[in-house]
Amino acid sequence: MAENLNLFTSTQAVIQDALNKLGYDEGMFELLKEPLRMLEVRIPIKMDDGKVKVYTGYRAQHNDAVGPTKGGVRFHPEVSEDEMKALSMWMTLKCGIVDLPYGGAKGGIICDPRQMSMAEIEKLSRGYVRAISQFVGPTKDIPAPDVFTNSQIMAWMMDEYSRMDEFNSPGFITGKPIVLGGSQGRERATAQGVTICVEEAAKKRGIEMNGARIVIQGFGNAGSFLAKFMSDAGAKVIGISDAYGALHDPDGLDIDYLLDRRDSFGTVTTLFENTISNQELLELDCDILVPAAIENQITAENAHKIKASIVVEAANGPTTTEATKILTDRGILLVPDVLASAGGVTVSYFEWVQNNQGYYWTEEEVNDKLYKKMITAFDNVYTVATTRNINMRLAAYMVGVRKTAEAARFRGWV
Ligand code: GLU
Repeated sequence: MAENLNLFTSTQAVIQDALNKLGYDEGMFELLKEPLRMLEVRIPIKMDDGKVKVYTGYRAQHNDAVGPTKGGVRFHPEVSEDEMKALSMWMTLKCGIVDLPYGGAKGGIICDPRQMSMAEIEKLSRGYVRAISQFVGPTKDIPAPDVFTNSQIMAWMMDEYSRMDEFNSPGFITGKPIVLGGSQGRERATAQGVTICVEEAAKKRGIEMNGARIVIQGFGNAGSFLAKFMSDAGAKVIGISDAYGALHDPDGLDIDYLLDRRDSFGTVTTLFENTISNQELLELDCDILVPAAIENQITAENAHKIKASIVVEAANGPTTTEATKILTDRGILLVPDVLASAGGVTVSYFEWVQNNQGYYWTEEEVNDKLYKKMITAFDNVYTVATTRNINMRLAAYMVGVRKTAEAARFRGWV
């Protein structure tokens, strides 16, 4: 039978498993198996050549029993309804794992910003906010950056919302530029959270960070900062990649040079002749592998060829359910996405708190609070995994879903 690559149905299966293990009945699964609300919008944009193009966008709100919903907005040609649903469910799990007062949401637009001008991207960002404005807000649903969206796009979206709202609403969105109420440390927060997970996992496996061989798939926001943090920590980043190919040097790549040359979408390999494929990159001989790009990268096809002893998922959904099983059976420690990539939403929460109180923290304060959240989350998940003898993904789902399930029960929904 072909492997299930549908993120939505495979996420549902793990949520069901986690709820069963926690002792909840079918009713709770019925509530949590898909988003409470799913909005589809059409956004007309006058392109630079004068022609009108109509884009399709989504906003999925998984569950708001705990509090307002929270999650990024991605601009990508492969955005789909099922992907949005799955990603909104993962946000519920992430918020539960790092104990934030939010439920999960996710938004996206089917588009390719790499082929669009800045003016077109601005119109699309503003059009999206107008289309979803009734549905979101600082105490309802708070968007943020995700794949191919950044602080400039958050600024346009915030400006559009503030215009409609007729007052300044910094807490409407997170991941903003610092001058517009963004938080210190937000831009590098996802990578910082991944770094903490890499270090903790390495300790569990007795791997010394100094000199450890790391491979990172993806050189976007998470992957590029992560490469920098890892090489600063003395690790050897021996492979990195972007959407077009990968670079490999067993002696360690010059990360500062690559960071200097990457474009705003994280593309850098096109400048080199001697490249390998993304598939070859994943199978390189290394200690720690960090998929930090897109979904379904480690599958039943290649899971038995992975040579790393630790896999830390910085991307959302890079390893399939079957591959998770294969890696676990082979004794590879897999730190799942919903834990490893929760640093971004954690500092988004800090940003929202600072916006609400109008008082801003230093970078040191932010990093310190992030560190405490991530360490506690890692320990909680690791403890559940070892005491119950289950893989860290299922353990993370158990830790993550519990808060929303409890809140829904107290509210009398189930
Ligand atoms: N898009 C990021 C994620 O998938 C961040 C979401 C947020 O900051 O709300 O976790």
